[in-house]
Amino acid sequence: MTPSPPTGTASVAREIVQDVYCLGPRGRTQTNVYFVGSGSSWTLIDAGWAKDGPWIKKAAESVFGAGARPASILLTHYHPDHAGSALQLARLWDCAVYVHPDELPLARGDWSAITAGAGPLDTWVILPLMRAMGQRRREAMLSRSSLQDVARAIEPNGGVPGLAGWEFIPTPGHTPGHSSFFRTKDHVLITGDAVVTMKLNTVSGILLQRPGLSGPPWYTSWNWRAAMESVATLARLEPTVLAGGHGTPMIGAQTAAALHAFANHCSAPATGADLV
Ligand SMILES: [Zn+2]
Ligand SMILES: [Zn+2]
Repeated sequence: MTPSPPTGTASVAREIVQDVYCLGPRGRTQTNVYFVGSGSSWTLIDAGWAKDGPWIKKAAESVFGAGARPASILLTHYHPDHAGSALQLARLWDCAVYVHPDELPLARGDWSAITAGAGPLDTWVILPLMRAMGQRRREAMLSRSSLQDVARAIEPNGGVPGLAGWEFIPTPGHTPGHSSFFRTKDHVLITGDAVVTMKLNTVSGILLQRPGLSGPPWYTSWNWRAAMESVATLARLEPTVLAGGHGTPMIGAQTAAALHAFANHCSAPATGADLV
């Protein structure tokens, strides 16, 4: 198989289904962000890496017009490939950034929440480095990288801020407060890293940017069993569009069946070892 070149480098968002625009997949990790229209306003779902802010702004203006600003920014979870430009864009657009209540301590740079929600990569590599920095330097760094005063919690029973007709689906496992977003009228599902459409759990999958359903990257996931239960939760929604945080979105009648098949495979003895 010939590796496909990095795609999505242009600042052009593609309307994958009515009022849902995908910007990406971009770069080696094939990261996506989404613009979702609702009435006369729109919302950004996920905010790419830290360097992606100008790219996202330009693409938003190509869809919604010069100077366009969203009602808010929603994050599926607080990882650097999804929240990297959130603070920068929130300041630029003067809007709030919403996350699940269980994700809010991570977004605010709470050290105890970061250690409690750690995945293997954090535990083995990142946290030891951060401990070695000493408390003062670590807290200064966490403060700079947190969402500071723009972070807000999504109210669990309050719908999705700014998006009428959408439901907020808690999908914990990759992180404690990971969330997905679901449009009920046509079963459009935005999944962050709860399910992605490229093979992120093998080295060859990443290097060759292989398409295909995958659970969250095990090496950055907090609780594998919960993550697999979240995959089953998402399959029960019978999506017609599966728009993940990485890879080209899956669209069409086969989507739900493919996700069910993947969920059934994953729910076998849940060690995740077969995905390494
Ligand atoms: Zn992630
Ligand atoms: Zn990710």
